[in-house]
Amino acid sequence: MSISTTADAVIVGGGLVGVAIAYGLVQRGLDVVILDEGDVAFRASRGNFGLVWVQSKGVGMPAYAQWTRRSSDLWPEFAETVREDTGIDLQFSRNGGYQFCLSEKEFQDRVRMMDTLVEASGGTFTYEMMRRGELADRLPELGPDVVGASFSPHDGHVNSLRLFRAMHVGFQKHGGTYTPNSRVTDITRDGDGFRIATEKGDIYRSARVVLAAGNATRELAPMVGLEAPVSPQKGQILVTAKTSPFLDCPTAQLRQTGEGSVLIGDSKEESGFEDMTSPETIKMLADRAVATFPALQKVRVVRSWAALRVMTPDGFPVYGQSETHPGAFVACLHSGVTLAAAHVGPMADAIAGGGLPPSFESFSADRFNV
Ligand SMILES: Cc1cc2nc3c(=O)[nH]c(=O)nc-3n(C[C@H](O)[C@H](O)[C@H](O)COP(=O)(O)OP(=O)(O)OC[C@H]3O[C@@H](n4cnc5c(N)ncnc54)[C@H](O)[C@@H]3O)c2cc1C
Repeated sequence: MSISTTADAVIVGGGLVGVAIAYGLVQRGLDVVILDEGDVAFRASRGNFGLVWVQSKGVGMPAYAQWTRRSSDLWPEFAETVREDTGIDLQFSRNGGYQFCLSEKEFQDRVRMMDTLVEASGGTFTYEMMRRGELADRLPELGPDVVGASFSPHDGHVNSLRLFRAMHVGFQKHGGTYTPNSRVTDITRDGDGFRIATEKGDIYRSARVVLAAGNATRELAPMVGLEAPVSPQKGQILVTAKTSPFLDCPTAQLRQTGEGSVLIGDSKEESGFEDMTSPETIKMLADRAVATFPALQKVRVVRSWAALRVMTPDGFPVYGQSETHPGAFVACLHSGVTLAAAHVGPMADAIAGGGLPPSFESFSADRFNV
């Protein structure tokens, strides 16, 4: 088959990052096509933990701390607007979040990290360090091994599959075209714009192209004079049967959903393009969860999975626009749930308006070439 289609913008990749930017662009009146490899692809967007998380984001890169905080602040209104537009309730809440410490060393490391974040955010990030006694008043189920926690009011969580679905529904409602089974194999200059070819032989032409193909962006970016040095990092997650409410806000390693299930996660493994669960990691996650809340020992695990993060060498996002191919953009990052509100809002504004603001220079992949 060979069809030729013209659009204002082509988004390569229909994961959470691509579809959020695309949803923002169609709301700004652009004619947008998403080309997506489809169900055979590795997709971080289907296997994540659902945190809208600020504490720990941006140590070493103030621009990332501020961007994350900005997205977190946009989230309450974003969730409401998405519900009105798509009819999908994202089950978002922002009651703050905990990171529990199971040793004095973890607690002291956490204090240092939180102080650095306050500095990185220009003083806008706020947090409390809480000792066990204070925590136990709020969380009576807490285990004896917990020595304390950091708490930040900026953190929240969401049903991330609903979020993913809502972005696609909203995108198509506003006239966007989603094209699955369309792996992009070639991008070349075409007059002032781009000629984008898929494996099937279909050709698309557009003034703008946004590369948001997760870990596959590494191979695509050089076609438009950009770099995306990303690689997969495996994370494993367990889900328990539903249990009575005991935790009204998320923690970095476990969270209770609105339906009562508990999600347990946060493992990090460099294992290439391999996304199988392993008994050792599952045990490690379960042990830590039980040390934090001993009552979980009696709750049955009903499901587990692994998924691959889109990880840069320093863990911070890569956003960029091409100097050699004006109109080409790249967006690769680990926190696509947290940053969804910023991608639909200010990021789409910048791309629709013609370019990323100077404040985005810190996110360029050039930082890896010094
Ligand atoms: C275990 C785990 C836990 C996580 N927890 C959180 C969390 O709590 N909070 C948070 O904010 N983030 C979290 N994340 C990260 C978040 O899920 C990702 O940042 C986000 O999903 C990345 O989306 P993406 O669109 O960049 O990539 P992906 O979801 O990987 O999608 C890439 C897309 O590109 C397409 N594609 C690939 N190659 C091509 C090609 N050549 N042509 C066309 N299309 C192509 C694929 O079909 C796919 O749809 C987590 C991730 C994991 C793995």
